[in-house]
Amino acid sequence: MPSSPVLFLMSVAPDGTASFAPADPTAPHLRVDDLGATRGDGVFESINVVDGVPQALRHHLTRFARSAAMVDLPTPDAAVWADAVRRAAAAHEPRAELLAKLVLTRGVEGSGVPTGWVHVFPATDYSRERGQGIDVLVLERAYPSDVVTRAPWLLQGAKTLSYALNMASLRYARAHGAHDVVFVSSDGDVLEGPNSTVLARFADRWVTTPPELGILEGTTQGRAFGWATARGDRAEVDRLTRDDLLTADALWLLSSGRLAAPIRSLDGTPRPWDAGLQAELLHHLLTVHE
Ligand code: PLP
Repeated sequence: MPSSPVLFLMSVAPDGTASFAPADPTAPHLRVDDLGATRGDGVFESINVVDGVPQALRHHLTRFARSAAMVDLPTPDAAVWADAVRRAAAAHEPRAELLAKLVLTRGVEGSGVPTGWVHVFPATDYSRERGQGIDVLVLERAYPSDVVTRAPWLLQGAKTLSYALNMASLRYARAHGAHDVVFVSSDGDVLEGPNSTVLARFADRWVTTPPELGILEGTTQGRAFGWATARGDRAEVDRLTRDDLLTADALWLLSSGRLAAPIRSLDGTPRPWDAGLQAELLHHLLTVHE
């Protein structure tokens, strides 16, 4: 049954205090001169809401504030945004999985007042990716692994609205018979997916790549690490090379929304993946919210 999305719009008082109120999600709200639209100048978060509970809300809001700081936007008030997310999720018709999208832009050009909203809508059905795995291409991001210190203006590691490149890489993958992408740096470090974190398993050692390489610290990866350590395995943040991708016992792409997608082929070469482990990991991600 189709269900209507829920929208909460931010307003900012003269003293800078933000508050949220429900708004009609089918009515236009964004001005054509909003810098979020004209320059992709803003930040966002996507939070999955499972059985009405926003997952890893605190971590998402911490990352939202970090991204805002990286583009010199005012710090979003975590309590105000958390309340808006919970109210918007509660206002939506119940669904097993919803997505809450939080957006903060630099606002209408010249106004100095940010635009913000929380939009809650039914999640995409990811049962095929979760259940059958994904085919992945390894693509160059063409930045060096020290991009964060060498060129901080490239905003690597911030979740900005400028995702056109990320989406272009996904279209490239699809045009070449794959579903998704793993980026590598120009000097051979494994980075992340265009909207996901890489997780590799080597026996009982679970590895993800370091945020210092200019990648986003994944909230889903954090929760997957909680699961790995609870089962007595080791969870480590460490650098991975392209060759490590070929020797790993299993690989996943992790993200809010899709949660865990096992990689079943890399550049056309089949990769082993374990349906039992995938089911365990997915169960954890769907039931343990922090
Ligand atoms: N890396 C990038 C570039 C992303 O856009 C995302 C999520 O959208 C992630 C990693 C995964 O982060 P999370 O698990 O918090 O969704």
